Amino acid sequence: MVKAVVGANWGDEGKGKITDMLAEEADIIVRFQGGANAGHTIVNNYGKFALHTLPSGVFYGHTTSIIGNGVALNIPILVQEIKSITDKKVPMPKILVSDRCQMVMPYHILFDQYEEERLGGKSFGSTKSGIAPFYSDKFAKIGFQVSELFEDGLLRDKVARICETKNVILEHLYHKPVINPEELLETLREYREMIAPYVCDVSSYLDRALKEGKTILLEGQLGTLKDPDHGIYPMVTSSSTLAAYGAIGAGLPPYEIKEIVTVCKAYSSAVGAGAFVSEIFGDEADELRRRGGDGGEFGATTGRPRRMGWFDCVASKYGCRLQGTTDVAFTVLDVLGYLDEIPVCVGYEVDGEVTTDFPVTCKLEKAKPVLTKMPGWKCDIRGIRKYEELPENCRKYVEFIEQQIGYPITMVSNGPGREDIIYRESPLQQ
Ligand code: GDP
Repeated sequence: MVKAVVGANWGDEGKGKITDMLAEEADIIVRFQGGANAGHTIVNNYGKFALHTLPSGVFYGHTTSIIGNGVALNIPILVQEIKSITDKKVPMPKILVSDRCQMVMPYHILFDQYEEERLGGKSFGSTKSGIAPFYSDKFAKIGFQVSELFEDGLLRDKVARICETKNVILEHLYHKPVINPEELLETLREYREMIAPYVCDVSSYLDRALKEGKTILLEGQLGTLKDPDHGIYPMVTSSSTLAAYGAIGAGLPPYEIKEIVTVCKAYSSAVGAGAFVSEIFGDEADELRRRGGDGGEFGATTGRPRRMGWFDCVASKYGCRLQGTTDVAFTVLDVLGYLDEIPVCVGYEVDGEVTTDFPVTCKLEKAKPVLTKMPGWKCDIRGIRKYEELPENCRKYVEFIEQQIGYPITMVSNGPGREDIIYRESPLQQ
């Protein structure tokens, strides 16, 4: 049985915490897209961790953690991340990396930096992890698969060929130092040593696991609105953030994905550029940012302050729909306990008309939020384990949002820890 954990919005919804929690009941956790550009923050009995590449199931002894073929694999970062967790006394996890996974090359990172520099004020706000150049090369069919590391002759020829074109761009467009093919080959040989213990034919492994009745979790990175097709293009990421892509990025039949847990945060935050209709500014934003998440809303990879906003029903309804949501996990609700009233974005006004349908980017740029206010509950809800024990106004907030988005909120998260979860029966469950 396959379950996906994905985001409804711009990312940072708390997927890491939900995956870590659901991993207790899972056998295998798979990352199926994205790279080391975004991170998940996980708090558990070993400490606090920012994971960028490893799936959020690595803390359990009984799970296998898989990097699927859809991931942009940065080998030194993976190795460093394994060390960072074992240094904190987490037992060495069982890790498998798909032999079809492609690698982020050192020049992808450089091209990402150079392109953002070239674009200046019109940049995408990239984390400069090489993700866009990596996926461009993958689809231009000049990427490197992990499997190719083990074919030395092939590797040498391919490196020479790729350096020819990359060096023209480096020299004439960016006016930067060129790549030395021998040095690059040497780096790739080091990568081979680093990755060799983990390489596996992942789709066959997963096929066998399914036949044995194992539970597989697919862990998404970012959220629907960063999907290159369905998100706020071009201010998106370069690989699909949708549960459907989990089938491709792991190598599984699509019909095996039975449950899709879409994570929605009780307010909004976003990183990078792009339209953000319910965004707030000034002191109001600073306060929510400072109180948000677990220790403030700052990027797990970059440390940069996240943009803040009220809950956006239009974006979240759309975000849940594109994921194919069976369950919504509604997170970070505890943070809103300080507010007298909580604004919620229930519609967008575009060219004088109000809509609850999420528009295409050129219309989205013109959208203004239609806000309604919900009464606050003015208390700390951490530690509560039963839905009925939440303050009435808090339940009203959850139920109002559920009704607006139209998908069942079956989990409410009221703290960063594994045990900070309230399960709930929803009237929308089939
Ligand atoms: P992800 O990328 O979707 O996994 O999200 P992040 O890890 O970037 O951001 C979520 C942040 O919120 C992390 O610091 C979590 O520890 C924290 N978090 C998750 N769920 C809750 C919750 O219910 N309450 C609070 N206060 N923090 C939470």
